[in-house]
Amino acid sequence: MNILILGGGGREHALAWAILQNPKCDRLIVAPGNAGIAEIAEIAALDIEDGGAVAGFVEENAIDFVVIGPEAPLAAGVADRLADTGVACFGPSQAAARLESSKAFTKEICDATHAPTAAYAHFTDAETARAYVRAQGAPIVVKADGLAAGKGVIVAQTVAEAEAALNDMFGGTFGGAGAEVVIEEFMEGEEASFFVLCNGETVLPIGTAQDHKRVGEGDTGPNTGGMGAYSPAPVMTQAVCRKALEEIVKPTVAEMARRGTPYTGVLYVGLMIRDGQPRLVEYNVRFGDPECQVLMMRLGGQVLDLLLDCTNGTLDSARVNWADDHAITVVMASRGYPGICGKGSEIRGLDTLPKDSRHMVFHAGTKEVGGKVTAAGGRVLNVTARGATLAEAQAEAYHMIDAIDWPEGFFRRDIGWRAL
Ligand code: ATP
Repeated sequence: MNILILGGGGREHALAWAILQNPKCDRLIVAPGNAGIAEIAEIAALDIEDGGAVAGFVEENAIDFVVIGPEAPLAAGVADRLADTGVACFGPSQAAARLESSKAFTKEICDATHAPTAAYAHFTDAETARAYVRAQGAPIVVKADGLAAGKGVIVAQTVAEAEAALNDMFGGTFGGAGAEVVIEEFMEGEEASFFVLCNGETVLPIGTAQDHKRVGEGDTGPNTGGMGAYSPAPVMTQAVCRKALEEIVKPTVAEMARRGTPYTGVLYVGLMIRDGQPRLVEYNVRFGDPECQVLMMRLGGQVLDLLLDCTNGTLDSARVNWADDHAITVVMASRGYPGICGKGSEIRGLDTLPKDSRHMVFHAGTKEVGGKVTAAGGRVLNVTARGATLAEAQAEAYHMIDAIDWPEGFFRRDIGWRAL
């Protein structure tokens, strides 16, 4: 079968790597891809948020199955456009993608299903929002309603900080995404992510993970897209997973179906867990990046069968073959990240590293220039390893990093500390 993956980050490199292990895959194209993906699959230049362009490409290349990696094409309705052409596509419709593209919508679904989550209020004007913050006090969480690339959430420790965030959002810092704002109760606990496949009705859990959002060791400094992740997440015990499924995920999926906008694809359930009780922080309508890298390393080639089952209506009979193992990914980023960072520096030593079912360097922001791999973004490499224990996987990953010669890059030495 001919498969097209949309996206060009570490998440898509990991998806491509896992899908290629399945003999059902005859030809794999990734658009736009990156230097690492180009080593294992064909890459193509394509505007992946333009549904018409993607549909045309699918037809020209006789693609049988499309996997959409990032949220932007989903929010832009690319899955709907592909549904019109009849090609099988993994990813939710634009209407179902509102579970990520509108925080107010997700809160409305929580209200309708009585799902445990933070108490909240929703505002469209700054003055009423400021009055609410003053009445509630701090800590309090201020969120731009729409997609803001992970930068639209301010966990305010003081009322002044929350008011400043409101001024920014209503002042247009996030464009249309900040025209509406959700203000939430601050939840305490330990955060973890739970990944499930959904086909509108059936829900199949495929793994848990935890990531490290802060740039600095000890989880300090500014927020990033994620500096590392590991799977499984010890806090996601069987009992917590069961509660999350029964109290949060299944009611959401049922409510989406009831509204005529059934959810299909992977649902990334962001949870805050305290005293064994999960509460919903957020939904994402795609795999997390870098969480996908550790899930793919643990699932391997069966992931293609699971994604096909999810898309073809055969999820009921699907089974996940669990290995009792652990995976970790450590992000190497360009110095300066998450602020301004340089581009174009050469990364050496990658060809000396093992590439097998237990070790992979997934590329995020890289570019091949004259036969050399160079840095082309903030987060650049995801050094990923699997082991019988998390400690073993961690030791392997850092051992690989030691062989990478890239003075312009940096990484955290403590990924996985909470679970160890
Ligand atoms: P991303 O998709 O990049 O994780 P996002 O912009 O969709 O981020 P959220 O996940 O809703 O935003 O929030 C980002 C982070 O802020 C969460 O991972 C969590 O650490 C923190 N956070 C969000 N809501 C709350 C809350 N109510 N209480 C405590 N912390 C929260």
